[in-house]
Amino acid sequence: MTVEQTLSIIKPDGVQKNLIGEIVNRFEKAGLEIVAQRMMRLSTEQARGFYEVHKDRPFYGDLVSYMTSGPVVVQVLQGEDAIAENRRIMGATNPADADPGTIRADFAESIEENVVHGSDGPDTAETEIRFFFGDDGICPRTR
Ligand code: ATP
Ligand code: MG
Repeated sequence: MTVEQTLSIIKPDGVQKNLIGEIVNRFEKAGLEIVAQRMMRLSTEQARGFYEVHKDRPFYGDLVSYMTSGPVVVQVLQGEDAIAENRRIMGATNPADADPGTIRADFAESIEENVVHGSDGPDTAETEIRFFFGDDGICPRTR
């Protein structure tokens, strides 16, 4: 077991549905600590850059439109195996495949409007955290 940090985004549909507190509560109840958090509206350029790995996928344009359609909450979660733990709490990309009790099973409308994002590995976590919080945007827990 290793203490990791991972990037989480509450996507525009999650914010619209007033789920910020519900989602943060699930992370905190699972023992994950928030060490950075910001509400923002992504620019088209930021959304394109963030999801650049998907630039050749047919849904890329729609994904960028969706992610810029309203404010999001970006946050860094810290804890034992935080990357996998966050993805377990989120559930599968397609809510139809997501385990009962996961965020996506409980709240997502579709494979696209699926409420949350979570980094999928140590390398992407580092890149994504830096994308939003730079080198000095994390507040280490001192108590
Ligand atoms: P995320 O990266 O947002 O945490 P994920 O890792 O579960 O989600 P990815 O395969 O990385 O899934 O896809 C990124 C996002 O693109 C998805 O969360 C979803 O919003 C959208 N997406 C993925 N597949 C499709 C699809 N087939 N049709 C429409 N949108 C999709
Ligand atoms: Mg992904």
